Amino acid sequence: MTAPLVTAWSYSRYAMYKECPFKFKCKHLDKLPEEGSAAMERGNTIHSLAENFTKGVWDPNWDAARREPIVPPELRNFAAQFIQLRELKAVVEQEWGFRRDWSHTGRPGWFGQDVWFRAKTDVHVLYDDDTLDMVDHKTGKKYQTNEDQVELFALAGFKRYPNVTEVTTRLWYLDIADHNENEVIRVYTRKDAANIQKDWEKRVKPMFNDRKFPPKPSGRCGWCSFSKMKGGPCKF
Ligand code: SF4
Repeated sequence: MTAPLVTAWSYSRYAMYKECPFKFKCKHLDKLPEEGSAAMERGNTIHSLAENFTKGVWDPNWDAARREPIVPPELRNFAAQFIQLRELKAVVEQEWGFRRDWSHTGRPGWFGQDVWFRAKTDVHVLYDDDTLDMVDHKTGKKYQTNEDQVELFALAGFKRYPNVTEVTTRLWYLDIADHNENEVIRVYTRKDAANIQKDWEKRVKPMFNDRKFPPKPSGRCGWCSFSKMKGGPCKF
């Protein structure tokens, strides 16, 4: 039996593999550079603002009358929630590494030969009653695929904190003002974790078994850095 070409994964790696195995190979196995985009840059900037505000770093002003920190305009649709996270001293931007048996490595960060699954968290709050809140910030439009990833977040939460009995995942669509539309909340109990794990084991199997990584052309080829049009190695 030959060794798998893919040795570790994350949700974003899985999503790229699903979109196009050849694109995944170019980026993650051949390590070819990928073009950035204005939307990606904006997303990174807003993630940093959210991180800094939650940590209390972003404080150029203070609303003395209301005795509240002023939330950056980019986060205004979730102003009250960001203030609450800050008061709760939520933990921001962490990278968790898990071994093949889904056990947490116990180290900060996700690098190391034994890391098989990598999870990145934007914000999480662990409460005294062994429940966990995990928040993921999204910029741009709401996509169905975003919901795919919340189960995996919840599973990572259960694996990272073995005593946790319930995980609430929250996707915050920062650019959407309508409060009926801009948050997706899901609640999972530890009983759900076994099924979620089984489901993801099945989902990622083709990626670990693949040795050919065929191209899968779609409407997204026009934006792909590895396309023929952009001088990349792909035939499409
Ligand atoms: S151009 Fe299309 S088929 Fe080729 S790698 Fe990119 S996404 Fe895949």
